[in-house]
Amino acid sequence: MKSYDVAVIGSGPGGYVAAIRCAQLGMSTAIIEKYSTLGGTCLNVGCIPSKALLASSHHYEEATKHFEDHGIEIPGEIKVNLEKMIARKQAVVDQTTGGVDFLMKKNNIDVYEGLGSFIDATHIKIEGKDAGEIEAKHTIIATGSKPSNLPFIELDKERVITSTEALKLKEIPKHLMIIGGGVIGLELGQVYRRLGAEVTVIEYMDRILPTMDASLSKELNKVFKKAKFKMMVSHKVQSVERKGEEVIIKAENKKGEVVEFKGDYCLVSVGRRPYTDGLNAEAAGVKINDRGQVEVNDHLQTSASNIYAIGDVIKGAMLAHKAEEEGVFVAETLAGQKPHIDYNLIPGVVYTWPEVAAVGKTEEELKEAGVAYKVGQFPMRALGRARAGGDIDGFVKIIADKSTDEVLGIHMIGARCADLIAEAVVAMEYRASAEDISRMSHAHPTYAEAMKEAALAATDDRALHV
Ligand code: FAD
Ligand code: NAD
Repeated sequence: MKSYDVAVIGSGPGGYVAAIRCAQLGMSTAIIEKYSTLGGTCLNVGCIPSKALLASSHHYEEATKHFEDHGIEIPGEIKVNLEKMIARKQAVVDQTTGGVDFLMKKNNIDVYEGLGSFIDATHIKIEGKDAGEIEAKHTIIATGSKPSNLPFIELDKERVITSTEALKLKEIPKHLMIIGGGVIGLELGQVYRRLGAEVTVIEYMDRILPTMDASLSKELNKVFKKAKFKMMVSHKVQSVERKGEEVIIKAENKKGEVVEFKGDYCLVSVGRRPYTDGLNAEAAGVKINDRGQVEVNDHLQTSASNIYAIGDVIKGAMLAHKAEEEGVFVAETLAGQKPHIDYNLIPGVVYTWPEVAAVGKTEEELKEAGVAYKVGQFPMRALGRARAGGDIDGFVKIIADKSTDEVLGIHMIGARCADLIAEAVVAMEYRASAEDISRMSHAHPTYAEAMKEAALAATDDRALHV
């Protein structure tokens, strides 16, 4: 039986990054993945394929709706070839998962294909292509998550689908009904809306993106409504029924009335659940809490002291970069280092267009905590670069402590915000004040100037260009 310093179960962004960092630190490392491709949800059926489809559908929308404004005329009809679009997405996925194979080889990490389950705290059984047993001094559980469902919905995966199926549809839906106005619902909803589907979003809470700063929800809602999305907030879904090629959803609105929606596809995107099926965690003494998460302490150590857990399978945001940080954190802890993660500074991004991004506290959270704060906000439309590019929706909003001026949260919506948020994270990591940001030179003309202007507005209401 082969013996390792560390075995990692699951090869998503948490698991494969943990394996690389363990190997870099001189530990003999194995990674076990039940599927034939590495990369987990993120690379196979999450971040990467959804961004590929968002990019393709964005190009289509530009060509059909905005090229003309730029004086570009395309004779003849512009058409979508969905099969080709999905094939391109798959090629991007294949190339990216292949990159993880390369990284495993480069770092001398042994890859086992098969379902990993604990025999005891130091032995793991592998069932599948590379069946067998290995021994590991330490194990990192990185088994990720799967889509959640509502108890009364039967997911037939043809017409009543999750994100996994929505990434490989064979036709553009006529009417895509989406349950859940969170990140997946809005990103994939935008893909199919751009391609011509009618899209209805049915959200239980009183706004889309209910965990983000309310100003972002409001602005994105405005843009989506302009794009003729039907936004049904404060609707509680009661039933989903498939009749032939039709799906019928019944939901209760705020007034207590039952509203019926009919369409040809229903995407259920109401969150994801931690995944530990088949892991046999109890054999190793690893506790799973009543939310299905592997229970960990501040060192990400489970109730079995030689076993750690990271990523979607534990508490916290279900984000690829959070999983990656935790993978590095555990590897460095095992090597005797003292790593640190500031969970308040893990940014959140929604890759719609305009992009939505945030880091730190929302205004609602600060109000609730009774913190005195001030806000500086600057509209993208006041930027020369936004007008030159034609992407004028959105704003940057900086929230700072009222007395110390320390930045407490940055919330933005607009073109390229997914990348702009990195400046906000850096500023907050160094505990910048709003004035610090306002005194740094920002290249002109860029979207990043909105950060400087919002910081000026927060400092003492002295934005220059409004
Ligand atoms: P996962 O990526 O879920 O990987 C876990 C792996 O473990 C899987 O490959 C699974 O097969 C394997 N596994 C499970 N049990 C076993 C076992 N017993 N034995 C062997 N292998 C096992 N996040 C972002 O930050 N940005 C985005 O843009 C983004 N977009 C997303 C879009 C969609 C449609 C979805 C669904 C998710 C998206 N996410 C995004 C979330 C992101 O994918 C997850 O947060 C991330 O993948 C979590 O990483 P992980 O390593 O914890 O788990
Ligand atoms: P989510 O938590 O973002 O959104 C789920 C939405 O469904 C919420 O708005 C919630 O209020 C709503 N909801 C819950 N129950 C409902 C009900 N009964 N009826 C109507 N609405 C209901 O979850 P998601 O969009 O499914 O995404 C899952 C996870 O994947 C998220 O945690 C997210 O972080 C991650 N993800 C991230 C990205 C990204 O970073 N860009 C993209 C996709 C997914």
